Parts: sequence; structure tokens; C-alpha cells
Amino acid sequence: MVNVHFVNGPLRLPETPHALPPEALTAMLGVSEEVGLSREDAEKRLRAVGSNAIEARPAATWFALLLHQFMTPVVYLLTGAAGLAFYFNKLEEGAAIAAVLAVNAVIGFYTELKAVRSIEALRALGAHTARVLRNRVVIRVPAENLVPGDVVVIEAGEAVCADLRLIEASRLAVNESTLTGESVPVEKDVQSVSQGARLSERRSMLFKGTTVTRGSGRGVVTATGLATELGKVSRLIIEVDAGNSPMERKLSRLSTQLVAATLIVASVIAALGLISGQDELLVIEAAIALAVAAIPEGLPIVATLALARGMWRMAEQNALIERLSAVETLGATTVILTDKTGTLTENRMTVQQLLTSSGDVVVNANPPDNTLLSRAGADQELSLLLTVAVLCNDADLENAAAEGTGDPMEIALLRAGLTANMSRSDLLLKYPLLRKHAFNPSTKMMGTIHSSRDGILIAVKGAPESIINSAAGLLHEGSEIRFDDETRSKWNNNVGRLADHGLRVLACAVGHQPQEPDDPFHQLFLVGLIGLQDPARADVPEAIRDCQNAGIRVVMVTGDHVETARSIGRAVGLDTSEGNVVEGRELYEMLKTGAPALRDVGIFARVDPSEKLTLVRAYQNAGDIVAMTGDGVNDAPALRQADIGVSMGLRGTDVAREAAAMILLDDKFSTIVKAIREGRIIFANIRRLVGYLLSCNLSELMVIGLAVAGSLPLPLLPLQILYLNLVTDVFPAFALAMGEGEHRVLNRPPRDPKEAILGRAQWLAVILHAMAMSAATFAALGMGRWLGLDQRASVTVTFLTLAFAQLWHVFNLRSHGTSIFVNEVTGNRWLWSAIGLCALLLALPPYVGPAAHLLQLVPPTLQMWLVVLFSSTAPLIVTQIVMLTLSGTRPNRF
Ligand code: ADP
Ligand code: MG
Repeated sequence: MVNVHFVNGPLRLPETPHALPPEALTAMLGVSEEVGLSREDAEKRLRAVGSNAIEARPAATWFALLLHQFMTPVVYLLTGAAGLAFYFNKLEEGAAIAAVLAVNAVIGFYTELKAVRSIEALRALGAHTARVLRNRVVIRVPAENLVPGDVVVIEAGEAVCADLRLIEASRLAVNESTLTGESVPVEKDVQSVSQGARLSERRSMLFKGTTVTRGSGRGVVTATGLATELGKVSRLIIEVDAGNSPMERKLSRLSTQLVAATLIVASVIAALGLISGQDELLVIEAAIALAVAAIPEGLPIVATLALARGMWRMAEQNALIERLSAVETLGATTVILTDKTGTLTENRMTVQQLLTSSGDVVVNANPPDNTLLSRAGADQELSLLLTVAVLCNDADLENAAAEGTGDPMEIALLRAGLTANMSRSDLLLKYPLLRKHAFNPSTKMMGTIHSSRDGILIAVKGAPESIINSAAGLLHEGSEIRFDDETRSKWNNNVGRLADHGLRVLACAVGHQPQEPDDPFHQLFLVGLIGLQDPARADVPEAIRDCQNAGIRVVMVTGDHVETARSIGRAVGLDTSEGNVVEGRELYEMLKTGAPALRDVGIFARVDPSEKLTLVRAYQNAGDIVAMTGDGVNDAPALRQADIGVSMGLRGTDVAREAAAMILLDDKFSTIVKAIREGRIIFANIRRLVGYLLSCNLSELMVIGLAVAGSLPLPLLPLQILYLNLVTDVFPAFALAMGEGEHRVLNRPPRDPKEAILGRAQWLAVILHAMAMSAATFAALGMGRWLGLDQRASVTVTFLTLAFAQLWHVFNLRSHGTSIFVNEVTGNRWLWSAIGLCALLLALPPYVGPAAHLLQLVPPTLQMWLVVLFSSTAPLIVTQIVMLTLSGTRPNRF
């Protein structure tokens, strides 16, 4: 036994709970099965045993982050440069380089800390909760707060949050692949197993980290956190997704390549300089500074910031990213496969029409009328229809005016029952519940078994086609009439008639047996149909139009009836014309004819969960990037297969959430579109800031390289480059990372997912921009000569020219086709502040004694300022003119 010292004496944790009978276990853990722990007791235990968490990914410590800043090639290079400076007794320069090193590290540290923390905070938002019995009431608590002795309630779709000894189980099956590698669900029950049973044989236990695929149950927590079986092996299964997205990996690869390329260029330049007999120290220092200048050291950090910022914006709009890779893929989405109920519709249902063999009843829900009350008393069939709808029901509703808890469709049924004076609790007294068969999405039926005065009553509700096709007959005036083909098709027509009005149709059936049958869905008799109204969400039509403009196809995939789907589809603006609505069973035929047919489909109706997976694959084979929504256990494989699996925060199961890359906190379709928009903005921002950093750095490289090659005096001194990079690499790039994007990001077709961060067109642009800026710098050098400036004054002019040219260069990064003055760059408030700050930081040093001395600058005269102003703005103006004349003929660059 493991002893945990506990306030009221030690709490003993059982070592073989699977072998103990439930009573012995609860006694040992000091808890009553009916009451659960008290809040105070739970708190004490939590303090004693600690949080129920396995630190799969320890939070990054600030120390580790700080250390990380010094582990980059840039730092090694700078340290080398400082060492050289000290060696040649240039103390001031050495100290300045060291200072730059420190400032760089601090900025990097601060940014990375911020980005990492905000991503961690986002992760915490998606954490699990568990339902536990405390003080006789079932409440939801964060999974970390579970303690040994807690009585946990669990059902299909949920993740097991601690190790549990079952005390109650109904058709329970669990997927334990995380622990045992076995992907076939394991059946569970309360029977004790032998002490020596292996993990996979402990059928009386549920283990943390596994998921319930069927049934429901209750269990007592026997171990939490690292004491759980999962905790014991956690080191083996920690997810290797170390928090790096493909985008980040691409970026760090780009950085490494640049470091290598730069070192080569720098050594060539150094060699050239030395051969041409320039000052040895200056040349080596220039080469080192050059290397530092050309490496965009801030790039990975700023890109992470852009990602984190975008993810926050998504979270603010109720889209929670579960996998970093999703951020990048989102923007490239070409097709959204969405379910209907709750995503396209409100999922706020009301019963509108009831149909039995004795006729039609139309209910006016708004304002509520008492048709049901007056009719149900006299009409035997109608009363039985409502009885089945209320009995075969998992929801709770106190009174007709209350909100209720559970599936909105089932709540609507309870509400209809209450308006006819039929409450579930009264009916259960008459027909005590024996067993429940949960809704099965494949058969599309649910059933409950009750005892009644004359034997067993089976109440079944489900999709009408399933029930009509499997029922033996129909109830008419109290007697059972066998179906013939004619009545079957008549009732199928009735279903179509209700569905035509956009109603979700449900059929109810009963069975009478002397004793409980093996297969309750056998020998059923149809009682009638219920039509429920579920209005389309008001924001969906606009969101669908946005998708169409953005080149994203929207396809409804529903288990519901064709006509119901078509009617909702029409209401939200999907293509519902004849050939474009396909039934699940036609799917395989259609796929044989190939991908083109897939392009036109607007709706897939009567689709099984297994067919969803086939659909996702079919679209992917046709070259699509697929976003797919889902909420049930059965949706998990399709969600995992999709490029962006989207699960529902409100009605989704844990299983679906774990398979998904993104969670919609509000379940709304329009949230997907907002997330796609943000995804595109993030990509555009990263592309833009990479382009900015590279063109600036390249311009410095060109200036130094050409000067050394042409044996000209250096127009830019090493310390100046360091300072320049400190200023321009940091602030404008940060501001670009924060950009909110242009309003038209959704007016373009999706990006090719294979496209690199910088494609050919972007590289070309980067090189042209760099050439323009270095040409301006040389022009300034020439004008300085012409004005007869001395060495120091002319370096001042060239330094300021390149510095300001880089600053103005941000305005070149507007997207192609936007207006010169109103675009996402000029509309970025962060950017204006960044430019203001940078302008100050660049213009002041010549006037501040020590800085001027270090950077070897002189206070410019008015004449010099004019040269700087003219030559630094020239590249911007020329580029803009070129952009205007080429507009329409060139692909979008940034
Ligand atoms: P949707 O795509 O609209 O969410 P589902 O696949 O969830 O459709 O449901 C398909 C059909 O199954 C519904 O039209 C309804 O007839 C039936 N159904 C759904 N939920 C239940 C339930 N809890 N009990 C019985 N039948 C149900
Ligand atoms: Mg559904």
C-alpha cells in the first residue's frame, strides 16, 4: 500500500484496485458512493497528493528561454567580433559589441517569453474537465483537480481523466490504444479481476488518457497524476510535437541556410579586402559585422510572435487552435465539409408537426398553443407517440419554460410532452427504465427498455428511413398492422412531405415483448413521425458568400434526410440543384466516375460516419485542402484525416476534440471562416516580415560587398551596421508581425499549400528592393563627394541614407493591387509608432556625444540632411512607380 500523509491520518492508495470489490475500495478511500467527497475533503486531498497532471510538456522556464538567446550562431559571431576588438585593444568597440549582444538577447528573450506564454495560455484554455460527485451533486471540475476517492461520472465520447475503479457500468467500452497500443475497444464492467491481471485485462478499471467509445458508467478515482498508469509510462508517450509548426521549422531552416551563405560571402569579402591591402583589423571586423548584418537573427522569434498573435486573434473570435500546424494550413483551405445541426443551424429545436396513422397535428410553437394538450387526451396514437418521444430520451427539462440540459432535439421532445401534461418522471413511474441503448449513428436509432404491466415495453426513436425499413408494421387504432410495400412507401412519402418543409424528421416506434429481447430493434411497430424545426443560423449565408469569394467550396455533410438537408441548404445559400445533392449510398458509385463530379456537390445527405472518412480522402485525392467539422466519437477518424479537423466546443466530445486541430468554442460555421481569414493574414504577415528583413539585410551586404570589391572606403562601419540592425530589424518587423491584414484577404483564391514562404516572385522582389536601397546609398556617397564632405561626414550621410531607406521600405510591402495610401501597411498603427521611434533612434545619435563618437557620426548640416532625405526616399518612390506601371501584369508579391 502507498501511504499519502493526509490531514485526518494517512490516506491509503490501493495498489491493486482492480482486484478489490467496490465496497472495500470505497471504504478504503473514505468515500461514499452516493455522496462523493465533500468540497473541503477534496481540497485537503488535493493539497496532500498534488495536482492530477502529467507534465507532458513542462512550461518553458524564463531561465531556459534566456539561455536559448545565447545559443545562436549570431551570438557566437558577435562574441568572436568582440574578442577580436578587445585583442586589438579597441576597448570601446569591444564594449559596444558586448552591449549590442546584451540588448539583442534581452529583446529576443522578452519577445520569445511573450510568445511562448501566450501559446501556453491558449493551451490551458483547451484543458479537460471531468464530472464528479461532490456532496451528492454532480459538478464539472478541471481535470487537474481530481483526487483519489472522487466519484467520477463518465460516458461515451469523454476522455478518462484519472485511473478509476468502476462501480457502475452500462455497455461500457474504452479505447486504450494510448496505453496498450491495442486499437480495438475493450469492454469494461464492475467485476473484480485477479490481482495479477495485466493492464489490458483489468476490465474493472478505466485508465487516465484513454477514451470511452460506448456506454456510460461511474468510477472511484484510485490514482491521479504521475501515480496513474499513464503517469508511470508518460516518458514513453510524450507527444513529440515539441510545439514547432512546419512554418517555424521552415523558418529556422531558412535561417541556417542564410548563416551558411553569409559566412561564405563574408569570408570572400574579407579575403578580397585583405588582398587589396585594406586595414587588416577593419576588414576582419567588417566581414564579421557583415555576417551579423546579413543574418536575420530576429526572424524565428518575430515569426513566432506573428503566429502567437494570430492565434490569439483567432481565440478572441472563438476558434481555438490545438495544433500549431493548423495555423499555416488554415489559410490554404480549399473546401469545408460541414455538418448541419448546430453548425449551420441554431440547434434550437421546436416540435412543429406530428403525424400518426390517425392524422396530422400541426403545433404552433410561437406563441405556444395547447393543441397537443387538447388532442393527446382523446387521440390514442398521438399520446403513444409522445410517450415514446419522452421515454426514449436522455435530456432533462424541469418545466416547459426552462432551458433544459442535453441534446436540443430531445429537449424539444420533452417540452412537447410537457405541454400535453406528460412528464418524464410520471411516465417512468408507470414504465420503469430497465436499460438504455444509446443513439447509434450508424443505425441512426436509439432505444430504451421499460417494464410495464403486461411485459416489456421497448421505446425506439430514430431516423425515419431506418425505422420504417426495419419495422414490422404500424400501429393503427391500437392494433398492430403488418407493413406491405404500399403502406411502407406511403409512409416514406409522408417523411418526404415533412422534410420538404425543412423539418428534421424523427420516427417513433414501440415493441411489446414478454421478456427483454436480445435485439430490441426487432419486431417494432411504427407509431408516427415528429417534425422538428431547427432554423438556419442568421450569420451563415454571409459566411458562405465570403467562402465563395475566397475560392473555398462549402459542402454540407449530414446524416439527415435529403429534403431536410436541401431545405436548410437553400436557406443558407448552398447549391441545392438536382444533381448536386448526393446521398451517402451513391457516394461510392460517384467516386468511381472520378474527381470532377466531386467539384459540383453542395450537399451529401444520409451519410454514415464511416463515409465521412471516405469523403475526406476523396477530396484530398482530388488535390483539396480539407477542413472538416465533427462532434461525435465516430467522427474522430475523419477529423484526424482532414487537413484541418474542426471539433465543436459546446456539443463536441473529448474524443472529437482530441482528434481535431481546431475547436470552435461557439460551434458556429462563421467562426471557421473567421479562422481561415486569420490564417491567411498570419501567412501574409510572416511572408511580409521575412521579405522585409531579408531585403534590408541584403542591402547592407550589397553595400559593403560592392565597396570592398571596388576598393572604396566603407560607406557603412561595423558598429553602424550593428546599430542599424538593432533598430530596423526589431521594431518594424515586430509591427509587421502584429498587422491585422487587409480587408480583401478573403477575396483571393487560396494559396497553394506547397508554396514556400518566399517564392520565386518574392525572392526577386527582395533582390530588387535591396538593389534599389544600395544604389541609393552609393548615390548618397557620390553626392557627398560632390559636396566635398570629409570622410566622417560622408559616412554619416551614407549611414543615414541606408537607415532611412530601410525604414521607408516597409511601405513597399503593401499587397499588390491595394491603394498606395490606404493599405494594410499604412493602416497598421503599430507600424507608425515603430517608424516614429526608429526615426528618432536613427536621427539622434549624431547629436549625442558618446553615441556619435562610437558610431563615428557627425551632426549633419542642412545640406547633408537634404541629401539623406532625397536619396532615402528615392527607392520608395521609384519602386512605387514601377509597381503602378506593372500593376495587373505581375503576380502578387507580398
Ligand atoms: P446531422 O448531420 O443533422 O447532425 P445526424 O447524423 O446527427 O444528423 O442525425 C441523423 C438522423 O438521426 C437525424 O435526422 C435523426 O433522425 C436521427 N437522430 C439524431 N439524433 C438522434 C437521437 N438522439 N435519437 C434518435 N434519433 C436521432
Ligand atoms: Mg448530429
